[in-house]
Amino acid sequence: MTVLVTGGAGYIGSHMVLALTDAGEDVVVLDDFSTGFERLVSPKARIVRGDMGDQALLDRVIREHRIDAVAHFAAKIVVPESVADPLGYYLNNTVKARAVIEAAVRGGVPNFIFSSTAAVYGDAEEMPVTETTPAVPVSPYGRSKLMVEWMLADAAHAHGLNSLALRYFNVAGADPAGRSGQATQNATHLIKVAVQTALGLRPGMTVFGTDYPTPDGSCIRDYIHVSDLIDAHVAGLAHLRRGGAGGILNCAYGHGSSVLEVIDLVKKVSGVDFPVTLGERRPGDPARIVAAAERIRSTLGWRPRFDDLETIVTHALDWERRLLARDAA
Ligand code: UDP
Repeated sequence: MTVLVTGGAGYIGSHMVLALTDAGEDVVVLDDFSTGFERLVSPKARIVRGDMGDQALLDRVIREHRIDAVAHFAAKIVVPESVADPLGYYLNNTVKARAVIEAAVRGGVPNFIFSSTAAVYGDAEEMPVTETTPAVPVSPYGRSKLMVEWMLADAAHAHGLNSLALRYFNVAGADPAGRSGQATQNATHLIKVAVQTALGLRPGMTVFGTDYPTPDGSCIRDYIHVSDLIDAHVAGLAHLRRGGAGGILNCAYGHGSSVLEVIDLVKKVSGVDFPVTLGERRPGDPARIVAAAERIRSTLGWRPRFDDLETIVTHALDWERRLLARDAA
């Protein structure tokens, strides 16, 4: 049994590959290295460099490696970029995902795990959002992922492909053993930006809006440690292999932190009082996104190990220091 991990050289995919190879699984990584890094890929995994939209390549990889599960991570993930380049996002995230799903169906692969996103909820009126909250995405990014969820549901019905769509909330942190983390230099995500600022890689940072209807006026998000997120994938894979039912699961802790709380914690953990500007709202940011996170616990028996913002920030900071040390070497 071999697992095909698309996007296995990226931030989250590389953690999945490490978890699988740590558990003794055979893994094939398919990545085009447009944003991924070979040094993040577990040395125990085989790497196929190529385009996940290449149907012939997918067919060959699935046949040659006797793939029994696909974990599909490869995607573009920047919301404002998706607004500027919707067709690029629909090609990469939707059309190419369709190719991967078709190859799985044609190759008789029974199990499929898909990286979905809380962005499918858009500006949900009910909070916390449950898996049955209407999915009304407000960005091409969210829509590009929601369409894949629909394809998977239809492929399950028509072809018996058993799949889990995992809706990620705000993923942060890094492998506690320091083997992988977020390596993109110009990342836009809050915790990455804050730790880079603490380490002097950015002159300062901006809080996007302090007039939201939240206790301190800044936005609230449900941050989840990347290793807990990956534990959920590993549990999800075991669940599918046991013949457990597919479906949709929120991946989050079920409680939130504000932007100002995150920044204060990064200052405390790093010991650096870096410059912070209180700025305007960023278009498209909902005030508060917090998950109802019961279903994943009851379905997969998942229990988080790092449900603590200080631990997430500490691991993110450790990783950023490693990147700095490597660049200096
Ligand atoms: N944010 C911020 N300054 C930054 C980056 C992010 O104030 O430099 C805020 C952003 O407006 C949002 C929250 O931090 O309210 C989380 O943003 P991020 O981009 O990390 O994730 P998103 O929730 O947009 O997926």
